Amino acid sequence: MRGFLTLTILLLYIPLLYSDELDFEIPTHYFHAIRFSPQNIPIVSILITNQHNSYYVSSSDHLTLEYRDKGKISSIKTRSAIIERGEFKAGSVIYKLIVDRINYNDTETRENIIKKFKELGYDVESVLVGAVFGLKGKVHDNRQFYISIATFKTPEEAEPLITDVFNRYRIRAFLLPVLKSYPSGKILVYIPDRQQKISVENVFWVRQNRGSVTLQDGQRVVDYGSFNGDFYFTFEADGRLAAINRTDLEELLRGIVPSEIYASSPSEALKAQAIAARTEILSAIGHRHPATPYLLCATQHCQVYSGTSSYNIETDRAIRDTYGKVLLYEKRFVKAVYSSNCGGISEDNETVWGEHREPYLSVQIDADEKSEAYRRFKDGINEENLEEFLYTVDDTYCASSSFTNKKAYRWKVEIPYEELIRLLKKRFPIETLDDLMIEGRGRSGRIKGITIVSKGKKFYVDREYNIRQLFGGLKSGLVYIEKKKDSSGRLLGLIFTGGGWGHGVGMCQTGAIGMAERGKSFMEILMHYYHGTRVEKVY
Ligand SMILES: [Zn+2]
Ligand SMILES: [Zn+2]
Repeated sequence: MRGFLTLTILLLYIPLLYSDELDFEIPTHYFHAIRFSPQNIPIVSILITNQHNSYYVSSSDHLTLEYRDKGKISSIKTRSAIIERGEFKAGSVIYKLIVDRINYNDTETRENIIKKFKELGYDVESVLVGAVFGLKGKVHDNRQFYISIATFKTPEEAEPLITDVFNRYRIRAFLLPVLKSYPSGKILVYIPDRQQKISVENVFWVRQNRGSVTLQDGQRVVDYGSFNGDFYFTFEADGRLAAINRTDLEELLRGIVPSEIYASSPSEALKAQAIAARTEILSAIGHRHPATPYLLCATQHCQVYSGTSSYNIETDRAIRDTYGKVLLYEKRFVKAVYSSNCGGISEDNETVWGEHREPYLSVQIDADEKSEAYRRFKDGINEENLEEFLYTVDDTYCASSSFTNKKAYRWKVEIPYEELIRLLKKRFPIETLDDLMIEGRGRSGRIKGITIVSKGKKFYVDREYNIRQLFGGLKSGLVYIEKKKDSSGRLLGLIFTGGGWGHGVGMCQTGAIGMAERGKSFMEILMHYYHGTRVEKVY
């Protein structure tokens, strides 16, 4: 019965445009058209900052300012400019409450989920989010259907339903902002070289001419660094003026990879990291910033990017040596996630993020099949063998790497009772802690959820990240919790014995270095962490 799916499909996915022309219209930027450089490399737009009302751009050589004036494009060569927000009108955004995300071609799962929520009485809607890339005659896809069960005017209005859905079904719903009307405004530009002032509508471009573009705030207090590629300035939905760098993906990687891994790592590990980072960006496009005039941001939320100051000769070489290469699973870009240290075993993506399982992101002992660790623990970790795993396993790739931080591979934290109460009070209205229960572990032993008991009341916390935060920032969810009690059984504190640093899904960066040190190639490293995928040169 396929006919029952009569629902609205809202399209938020990204069309293709084959040129590196400038866009002077606000809707084009919100529409997120993906352009390609003359070499066919995807061009990416990254928010550098939106925290100021005025910005100062300069170059060691020359910049070209471009803007539209009465229908035609004007262009000025100069060394610097001050760009200020003038009168503006904010746009408007509505919020879809999303309960699930399903890969574009997984029709069966999607129909089942839609049916389930319709039967529960919700107003279900599918929203298609993401991008399709036509690269070298092949189509690659990162689109997903986001399943929405309600629409709200403000995030606050959605709060009760988010809580309700969590309490009933343990589903952590989130809001997808969807643009309803575009912002608009005037941008005032002062050009010191010419003592000239101009007023521009909506979008202003600063193109790299010779020398990179340096961005500072208008008072020249905050220095954001120097960037290759162009900048454009336009309005966020709430009316803020955003400074956005536009550059091709290979250039962007030069500013990203050095912040993700030690540049002194062995070259095969650097190559694996370059391919993972390239793939991760392509798989994230369209998903991270749905109602903004750019695709990505320059912070941890997407990937840390600080421009030319971080360029490094070793990471540059790894990027060049893997030019255009990405990880694919079937026709999709792999979600090439990675974390610092897996503690000897990686986890399923569904355990950590509650999303559908990706077959290539499943639990994996971080060692070869001849190792002790593999032989003893290949069937996974549970409450019974976790302590033994944490105390005895030391022949994994991440334990043996010369870059291993011993305090990241294995760690111990004791939190006394008073401190526990102080931490728990930040989240729950409690004065005492009477008990704590572990509500399931993933196949690697990472905690899925815990229940806090206080004066007969129970409070549930799900997901390893939330649990780590709850206790003041534990390094990982691969942790054994021991209750310290006095002779009368009263709780005195908790002792956390853990392994690894980070979420533990996908590539273990320390393990990748360990593998490279044992003579493994970047291909062997990638196939170990993302099994069943393939490396392909897509441009
Ligand atoms: Zn971001
Ligand atoms: Zn590892």
